[in-house]
Amino acid sequence: MRVLFTGTELFPHVKVGGLADVMAALPKALRAQGVDVRVLLPGYPALKRAAVPLEPLVALGDLMGGGEARILLGRCPAGLPIYLLDQPAFFHTDTPYAAAGTLPLGFGALSWAAAHLGRHGDGHGWCPDLVHAHDWPTGLAPAYLALAGAPRPRTALTIHNLAYQGLFPADLLVPLGLPEDCFTPGGVEFYGRIGFLKAGLMYADGLTTVSPTYAQEILGPAGLGLEGVLQHRNGSLRGILNGVDESVWDPARDPHLPRPFDRDHLEARRPGKLDLQRSLGLQEAPEAFLVAVVSRFAGEKGLDLVLEALPWFAGHGIQLAVLGQGEADLEARFLAASRLHPGQVAVHLGYDEALSHRIYGGADALLVPSRHEPCGLTQMYAMRYGAVPLVRATGGLADTVTDATPEALKADRATGFTFLEPDSAALEAALGRALGLFRDHPAAWTALQRRGMAREAGWGPSARAYLAFYEKLLRA
Ligand code: ADP
Repeated sequence: MRVLFTGTELFPHVKVGGLADVMAALPKALRAQGVDVRVLLPGYPALKRAAVPLEPLVALGDLMGGGEARILLGRCPAGLPIYLLDQPAFFHTDTPYAAAGTLPLGFGALSWAAAHLGRHGDGHGWCPDLVHAHDWPTGLAPAYLALAGAPRPRTALTIHNLAYQGLFPADLLVPLGLPEDCFTPGGVEFYGRIGFLKAGLMYADGLTTVSPTYAQEILGPAGLGLEGVLQHRNGSLRGILNGVDESVWDPARDPHLPRPFDRDHLEARRPGKLDLQRSLGLQEAPEAFLVAVVSRFAGEKGLDLVLEALPWFAGHGIQLAVLGQGEADLEARFLAASRLHPGQVAVHLGYDEALSHRIYGGADALLVPSRHEPCGLTQMYAMRYGAVPLVRATGGLADTVTDATPEALKADRATGFTFLEPDSAALEAALGRALGLFRDHPAAWTALQRRGMAREAGWGPSARAYLAFYEKLLRA
């Protein structure tokens, strides 16, 4: 089976969030299942450097007014074949969503190139049976293929995050090469604009999202306006949980950690915690409860709840380490908090892959208070690294963390702490339970860490679920 993935991020070269991790790890896991997966991405400079030597395969002429476009074929260091859409007018920086002015045409061109490869192949004997688009930037790929008609490959779209829908003015219809009669509620139109994600949801043969709970939630208010469309397509929608790339996320072999450890040697986490406290400017106190956040600063992540709970943190002597960047208001409020509580609250603004590993490997707990969380990877990385997750029970967070209720602790099932209401009182109550276990029941705490580390989290089961999903689409 040949499958063409198309999306806009690829770990470790171009990464904004979890999409990059999935775009790198899932093709690898599918290839291990015998699926011939290739990936089409924008020809960002970092990808052109990473995929050398690059072979020009297809000349597409001027696409979407961005000048001459070509499809190049290269290979990632990890061995994954990648096609790059070489069109510098659209893809001259490594920041996928920054150039707001050219986004719709650039990603329209990418979707169009995916459809071209889907229908005509690469001219060198490779033509996919199925085109799998990821998130709004490639939502038009299933639309171009459906509108072009047979013969065409089957199509799938995965929703990694419904909060980003790609809505653009209707006058782009012609520049995007879309026929006017598809500008209807049954087509690409969404409340008077062109909806890239909406188009994918309408035209793809099959839909997935990244956790079973999120697949249910988005049929209601978490659908953020698209719930009607999703209810209409519900028969074709599946929730498949993301996994962890265990070759990247392994505390026993992680070059970023001062000392490797595994679940039988948790005492070896200690130097990592001290190193983290020292380097972030927190008090070097091995017995302090060190809670961390690694997150994009966006409204959906619920970080305002953490800010509201700060007096409670301070009152209970809890240390807080925050790594993230994003909305200016949140950045300013976290910085102010670190000035107000020196030695107790540390904030590192920016994107720092190595520091994220050291946080998962050194903090006692990782806080993920999201309002919506399609899957969430940070809580899974934390579990692998012995940091106990404390999460709001929503989407994939609900599917991956088992709350440490007295019953779950007794039955050896608990892996973390969850709370339901999106408010700081609920967060504080869960933190209070976590603090109590950490301080007063160290053996139970260690058992919690070990269970999280033992959790089956590789990509194998997810890849098998995607394979079954593809087989069903190809039979249809
Ligand atoms: P989302 O995709 O919504 O951002 P996920 O939890 O699915 O959330 O994925 C987030 C990914 O980005 C994880 O790999 C996490 O470690 C990483 N990450 C987020 N913020 C930072 C940061 N400031 N520095 C380094 N890595 C980060």
